[in-house]
Amino acid sequence: MNVDFLDLKQQYLSIKDEIDAAMFGVIASSAFIKSKPVADFEKEFADYLGAEHVISCANGTDALEICLRGFNIGAGDEVLVPAMSWISTSEVVATAGATPVFVDIDAETFCIDISKIEEKISNKTKAIIPVHLYGHPADMQTILEIAQKHKLKVIEDCAQAHGAEIDGKKVGTFGDAATFSFFPTKNLGAFGDAGAIVVKNIDLKNKISAIANHGQEERHEHILHGRNSRMDGIQAAILSVKLKHLDKWGKMREQVARHYCKELGQLKNISLPKEQPLTKHAYHLFVIKTEKRDELKEFLEARQITTLIHYPKALPFQLCYKEYGFRETDFPIASKIQKQILSLPFYPEISEEAIHHVSQNIKDFPF
Ligand SMILES: *Cc1c(COP(=O)(O)O)cnc(C)c1O
Repeated sequence: MNVDFLDLKQQYLSIKDEIDAAMFGVIASSAFIKSKPVADFEKEFADYLGAEHVISCANGTDALEICLRGFNIGAGDEVLVPAMSWISTSEVVATAGATPVFVDIDAETFCIDISKIEEKISNKTKAIIPVHLYGHPADMQTILEIAQKHKLKVIEDCAQAHGAEIDGKKVGTFGDAATFSFFPTKNLGAFGDAGAIVVKNIDLKNKISAIANHGQEERHEHILHGRNSRMDGIQAAILSVKLKHLDKWGKMREQVARHYCKELGQLKNISLPKEQPLTKHAYHLFVIKTEKRDELKEFLEARQITTLIHYPKALPFQLCYKEYGFRETDFPIASKIQKQILSLPFYPEISEEAIHHVSQNIKDFPF
């Protein structure tokens, strides 16, 4: 039996009529850019989150960078980011002209280690970007307390956590701002690139909308240096259709996770994802840890089971940061975990048979 890591086609086929109608509706009405479908999705996503304002943009990376610019963060400033994430989280800090300062992660939640944040704060620190990695919420309460004490902005990177909650409240509503990606493989995925920014205050909303649209306040009035970063109408219409199914898919993800945990719970040599009290995990990925990661990955590959690693090299150790000369001992948890993590095949529609097959093969592996 062949098990793919992900299968987006099954999801499309399950809602094909709705999606096709939405897409052709946009084409028939030429509602391509800055159109009603975009405004509708922004409103619907804000309602879903329980957030004040959502501003759509071209992708999740732009969303982060535009946020930093919205807070006037740039040259001479420092921004705290976790040592383990997708590159966008730290990349945007440099694109904005500021310096990323990495903080090690927690070995259980994989999110920023709250006990190591304060030691990294200097008089140049302006913001912190917690990432709800793999769908597990970062400890927002503590992060907000630290941020308040040191007068830092908090920008939640929610690219992997659509639908995740802390104490019944959706992630994306805790920070001064939050960003989402709708890259096709995310929990809420478009059919191309798309992203969004969540803010609480109307002035910031207007500023960020302007930055993302050529600095225009109204047509031909360019009030600041902007850029072109917009969500197009077709992506918005697709996202509106998919948003209605997001909670159902979230439940399916939870079930897949529970199923894997039941199958693999007895194994001594692997550690399974855990949910912290009061949190709701969005299960973007199902990441296990094992000392024999590379061997297990190869073993499964030989049995037609595809696994991936998110991410094999923690951010501080990427070549683009070589100027800082980081060593593994600077980030002991991230450097250990990057050699242990393995993402198992995981998507809402994956069959029980496939989960069982993957689990059985992991049990067959000679640890
Ligand atoms: C996917 C992702 C992004 C960036 O999103 P794009 O839409 O691909 O630009 C940012 N942060 C994290 C943690 C991500 O997983």
